[in-house]
Amino acid sequence: MNSIILLASNEISFNQELIEYAKKHRPDTEWVLPDDERASLAKVAACWFPDKEILKSFPNLQLLHSLAAGVEHLDEKLLTAGLPICRIVDKHQQQGMFEYVLWGVLHAHRDFDRAIENQKNCLFERYAQCPAKHIHISVLGLGVLGKHVAQSLASFGYTVSGWSKSPKSLDKVNCFSGEDSLDSLLEKTDILVNLLPLSSATYHILSKPLFDTLPKGSYVINCGRGGHVKDEDLINAVTSGHLRGALLDVFEEEPLPASHPFWHTERVVITPHMASAASISVIVDQVSDNTHSLLMNQALQNTIDTTKGY
Ligand code: NDP
Repeated sequence: MNSIILLASNEISFNQELIEYAKKHRPDTEWVLPDDERASLAKVAACWFPDKEILKSFPNLQLLHSLAAGVEHLDEKLLTAGLPICRIVDKHQQQGMFEYVLWGVLHAHRDFDRAIENQKNCLFERYAQCPAKHIHISVLGLGVLGKHVAQSLASFGYTVSGWSKSPKSLDKVNCFSGEDSLDSLLEKTDILVNLLPLSSATYHILSKPLFDTLPKGSYVINCGRGGHVKDEDLINAVTSGHLRGALLDVFEEEPLPASHPFWHTERVVITPHMASAASISVIVDQVSDNTHSLLMNQALQNTIDTTKGY
């Protein structure tokens, strides 16, 4: 019998895509929605904002598999229920994330918004430029994505530091770890890139105290999660002129509501959670492979540490 995977996701069109892709490319699995009569047989749930009571509704579940790199969309109760939790790790996402961050870095470093603004006034102004090595970029989070972004930026000549929970040693990247080191890193930062996972320890980390510690004129790029940012503090830091601006890809509520003040905050650039996505083939293969591993009692890939929440 095929391995049944419960698709517990609130993204209706993506669900359809996943089901069709799996039917074609992974006929050894059967992806079913919660209202399918076979759903109760599933031992694995492929999740994106699943119902908080999923374990009560489907007591046969033995593995919760995120459909994304992060697991913050799983309720705390699910994260601590004692089941293993896996996430998607798509190496190809690293390049996409680097491209996105590089776009923001160049925008700030080369003052491209100034050129765009000048064009509106037919102003041919050659303003001063600064070599990349004089720009200090700090990357929060040195995991699969942050490490690649930090090292790639360093290879472009930027002066790069990174911050993680446990100590790291990376070629051409000054590595900092632990809460006590954060302020000294921030104080020397021109461009801050957030690639932390969202957890209770990192919720609202991008808020007033952090912005106040950054030097005046610094720039913030958030491609972690919306919950990392305290929105009103960011708006205040930008509108007061303390921050030079921000590039935001992720938001607490997505799609970002039309009424949200971010849309109309000058020098805040909004993108629709598009920095980098895992490919459907990688998602379907990793969930399917982990499902087989679970059923065969073999080691699971890309499990998270449920005590740390990432
Ligand atoms: P990883 O789990 O591989 O890495 C997380 C990094 O953050 C690790 O270096 C970890 O430290 C560090 N970290 C976690 N908590 C803390 C803390 N409290 N203090 C200091 N450092 C901490 O994650 P990925 O690199 O795969 O992804 C990062 C995040 O990027 C995802 O969780 C997701 O939210 C976001 N993302 C956004 C996308 C987008 O399109 N915008 C696409 C994909 C992901 P240590 O190494 O010591 O454990």
